[in-house]
Amino acid sequence: MAASQDNQPPAGTASALDYDAIIIGAGMSGLYQLYRLRELGLRVRVLETGTGVGGTWYWNRYPGARFDSESYSYGYSFSQELLDEWDWTEHFSPQPETLRYLNHVADKFDLRRDIQFKSRVTSAHYQEATRAWDVTLEDGSRYRCRFLITAIGLLSAPTMPRMAGVDTFKGQSFHTARWPHEPVRFEGKRVAVIGTGATGVQTIQEVAKTAGHLTIFQRTPNWCAPLHNGKIDAREMAKIRADYPDIFKRCQETFACFLHTPDPRGTFEVTPEEREAVFERLYADRGFGIWQGNFRDILVDRKANAVISDFVARKIRQRVKDPVVAEKLIPKNHGFGTRRVPLETRYYEVYNQPNVTLVDINETPIERVTPDGIKTSDAEHAFDIIIYATGFDAITGAYDRIDLRGIDGQRLKDAWKDGPQTYLGVLVEGFPNMMMLMGPHTALGNIPRSIEYNVEWVTGLVRHARDNNLTRLEATPQGVASWTDHVRALGMGLLSNEVDSWMTGINKNVEGKQVRTVARYSGSAPAYRARCDEAAAGGYPELRLG
Ligand SMILES: Cc1cc2nc3c(=O)[nH]c(=O)nc-3n(C[C@H](O)[C@H](O)[C@H](O)COP(=O)(O)OP(=O)(O)OC[C@H]3O[C@@H](n4cnc5c(N)ncnc54)[C@H](O)[C@@H]3O)c2cc1C
Repeated sequence: MAASQDNQPPAGTASALDYDAIIIGAGMSGLYQLYRLRELGLRVRVLETGTGVGGTWYWNRYPGARFDSESYSYGYSFSQELLDEWDWTEHFSPQPETLRYLNHVADKFDLRRDIQFKSRVTSAHYQEATRAWDVTLEDGSRYRCRFLITAIGLLSAPTMPRMAGVDTFKGQSFHTARWPHEPVRFEGKRVAVIGTGATGVQTIQEVAKTAGHLTIFQRTPNWCAPLHNGKIDAREMAKIRADYPDIFKRCQETFACFLHTPDPRGTFEVTPEEREAVFERLYADRGFGIWQGNFRDILVDRKANAVISDFVARKIRQRVKDPVVAEKLIPKNHGFGTRRVPLETRYYEVYNQPNVTLVDINETPIERVTPDGIKTSDAEHAFDIIIYATGFDAITGAYDRIDLRGIDGQRLKDAWKDGPQTYLGVLVEGFPNMMMLMGPHTALGNIPRSIEYNVEWVTGLVRHARDNNLTRLEATPQGVASWTDHVRALGMGLLSNEVDSWMTGINKNVEGKQVRTVARYSGSAPAYRARCDEAAAGGYPELRLG
């Protein structure tokens, strides 16, 4: 930086910095952060495990992978040129198109020259003497930087089920988030999919089209709703382009940065007929409307939630011919919208196909994976391919996989053993000069909108450090306590916080993630931004700056 030349470490502690900032991860967050820090004139390096850019859209190549956010609400908004030149071809872009988009962004802004691929960060240790982070890669190479920016993803650490025999299987097996770059063919094959979350649903509806036989192992059914995807032709894209200012303005105003705005009415403020008509309209509408654009009380009022849950259950019963199978697909342990709603395209109809079988592993648990397939308590199923759609160690998982240590060698994992503690979801006391993008306790929702905000806030803080010759930024204990308490308080009364899910920090496949924590900020995105703006405008009063 300018800061690296002007802001020398305290006397007697000099040790050259390799970079002013290291960003870990080259997904949407890391790419944009690189772009912004370069504008400040910093020497920046991005370290990325994969062989290409794109993060989520680089790794998740499974069949059927696509957005649940409208494509035009998901892309970056910061560059008019980019908006002008990029055409989305579907309302919900499929993964290959999104990956092309992110590669286009990397090329357009010449980002690759500062990105180092095949570079998994295994440890990052803060050294008080140098006010710098020492970062080590898997291959042993080491770098020193002033600022460490984690752009490591909230859904980027895949988890395998805790099952015996996984390694003994003789056929092909894949985790959806580690899908091979070569196509996988299912014709005539006996295929198993384990898991029915958002990824499982997308995979199942695609694989069912060609598999010889598809067996789905389900532990927890989810409330799915129709995606209603469609192609975007040149005329419609021109209209979307003209609407971009409105689209992004709306995303800034809504609770979770989606295009959908909640109905200001309560569920019981309308007649049963009106209510049914609203639900029907939302069920027929594109995207997350039924979740994010529904009556304002469906996610906080048990009775309201029961009404929408009953509506969706009726839809499932109508769409699935076998009533026994339909009942298995209807969630009984949580209400509609209290876990992430998978969006689907003829998902429920898959269960009417003769080449598809549903196995409820609550009734007949999986005992082990065998060389030939999967053994449950009542049968041995033979497979050629097993697909693990078993999700992620969400939000904190990617942090746990790095040996991150702050002042006096304190491990982040230990500091967070009872749940994350953060200041604005960006900084952690005891871990100076580390800033998290999309870390715990930040607003999520339609994530790129939150990413752009998060990156701009972090960039503002780094600019502040540069302009004021600061070499050390740390959250105060009061700042962390008050933000963490605020985040916990916001979660009170939300039905989603009474349910086990990745949003409440639960992952049955991960040691130590069996107790609910508050890992995400559940207030509105505008309220989150207001708090962060206020902190910046006030000169960061809850940070120790030096
Ligand atoms: C299947 C799927 C579908 C999704 N659909 C939507 C959607 O429709 N709408 C929406 O808003 N969000 C969606 N998301 C969430 C999605 O993760 C975000 O939208 C966004 O892509 C996150 O970008 P990111 O850069 O923060 O993280 P990521 O894209 O996860 O990128 C993190 C990067 O960090 C790298 N990394 C991690 N640890 C290390 C390490 N130790 N060393 C080096 N590199 C490391 C990873 O390899 C990865 O490339 C979806 C997620 C998944 C998994």
